[in-house]
Amino acid sequence: MTSVPLGLPRLGPARPGPAGGDAAGTADRPALPGLIDRFGRAATDLRVSLTDRCNLRCTYCMPAEGLDWMPSDELLTDDELLRLIRIGTEDLGIDEVRFTGGEPLLRRGIVDLIGRVAALPRRPRQSLTTNALGLVRKAPALAAAGLDRINVSLDTMDPAVFARLTRRDRFGDVIDGLAAAAAAGLTPVKINTVLMRGVNDHEAPELVAFALRHGYQLRFIEQMPLDAQHGWDRTTMVTAAEILERLSAVFTLSPHAAPRDGAPAELFDVLAADGTTGQVGVIASVTRPFCGDCDRTRLTADGQIRNCLFSATETDLRALLRGGADDAAIADVWRGGMWVKLPGHGINDPSFLQPDRPMSAIGG
Ligand code: SAM
Ligand code: SF4
Repeated sequence: MTSVPLGLPRLGPARPGPAGGDAAGTADRPALPGLIDRFGRAATDLRVSLTDRCNLRCTYCMPAEGLDWMPSDELLTDDELLRLIRIGTEDLGIDEVRFTGGEPLLRRGIVDLIGRVAALPRRPRQSLTTNALGLVRKAPALAAAGLDRINVSLDTMDPAVFARLTRRDRFGDVIDGLAAAAAAGLTPVKINTVLMRGVNDHEAPELVAFALRHGYQLRFIEQMPLDAQHGWDRTTMVTAAEILERLSAVFTLSPHAAPRDGAPAELFDVLAADGTTGQVGVIASVTRPFCGDCDRTRLTADGQIRNCLFSATETDLRALLRGGADDAAIADVWRGGMWVKLPGHGINDPSFLQPDRPMSAIGG
């Protein structure tokens, strides 16, 4: 088996928080620009959830009946979203925006929103994580509006498994959506894959072979305890080590030369028996956390900042937006919410509690 030098957390020395905690993050925070935390990390990558709704029902994410969707008056409007993205890019050092959900393509006005973000004075790189339903029609307009890149979620090459796993018979739409994204220049097109034991874990090599054939870059993501049903089970989770073992039986893998540079995926160069080459990534969020390198800040569709996927607390920017706060006040509260970020997600601590918000309402 290939040895896997996945990154371990590299944290700076912690500044102790004040006794009794400091949810607002103001007491010991230096007056610095940017979204820094006590451990020396700076968040520059903003994940924006555009909706909590979805047109698939992936078993590791949502129950078959869906969830109670957020009421529409609680969702940020396009103007509110744009204002926060402008504050993030102008005042807080955000240089990358990833739209996600729920299913972000369900958000009406997404093309206009991307166009308006592209016209900001400090234009961030823009990408989208999507299940690709509807992408065939929307990819050209998204690219023309200023979207730079796309990530498509695809967990299987078998239409029957797809229908079982997502509870919808839409495999062909995803395959066509991938091709449309590449044709529109939304490259590199990346594929996100979650493997589940006894469901699709045997397909790892086939998924990689498909990606290599088409020039897509596939990244396996370890399944995390973020499903609405709270059905995650560590003992059945398919680990990064197992995935790499399965791939190594079919492909020659070697660690990619470029530095990881804070990216969650550990990258490998892949050589197939027929000479095809490419790259594959493994995101070992559970077994080899990379929290020490985390550079993310998350905005939920209802205007809450989360400093971590697994955070138990949120910072309410919607109330400030709707209460008439100025940009400086909003930026300051955002900084405070990030300053108190914990050193790690704690999944592997015995006291770990899954957050109340499921992945689909946070934005993966
Ligand atoms: N609906 C879009 C999609 O599926 O790409 C965007 C939102 S989805 C929540 C974002 C990513 O999170 C997807 O790649 C999905 O596979 C992943 N995801 C969802 N639940 C997960 C879980 N419990 N563990 C790991 N990844 C998960
Ligand atoms: Fe929808 Fe994405 Fe969750 Fe699947 S992973 S149910 S496509 S939000």
